[in-house]
Amino acid sequence: MIKDFLLQTPGRTAFIDITAQVEKIVAGTSVRNGTCIVFVPHTTAGITINENADPSVRSDMIDALDKIVPEDAPYAHSEGNSPAHVKASIMGNSETIIIKDGSLFLGTWQGIYFCEFDGPRKRRVAVKIAGD
Ligand code: ZN
Repeated sequence: MIKDFLLQTPGRTAFIDITAQVEKIVAGTSVRNGTCIVFVPHTTAGITINENADPSVRSDMIDALDKIVPEDAPYAHSEGNSPAHVKASIMGNSETIIIKDGSLFLGTWQGIYFCEFDGPRKRRVAVKIAGD
């Protein structure tokens, strides 16, 4: 089963917690044990799983990515958003999460984050659920 949902991202760069949306999709299926793939069908956005408690973890990740991928480096891509493409590939465009007893098997401090690098935009997230 494949489902998707839309997101309006708030700014140029943002980490948006989508755990509740994904958990709701899982809960709407009859799957008790299996896998959930969350896929981002965009080239300037990514996905990651990281700490959901202290928001400064997210801002630290954004700051670290800005250091690794400087805005003012001499990029060739004419659209002018190469840093967003590079950051999207660093984060990756999918996560696989185990479903156990009908819920996402995430650690207490883990959340699923949609990573916007070229917003604000309307984005789509696809979720594939398999199992029994
Ligand atoms: Zn581009």
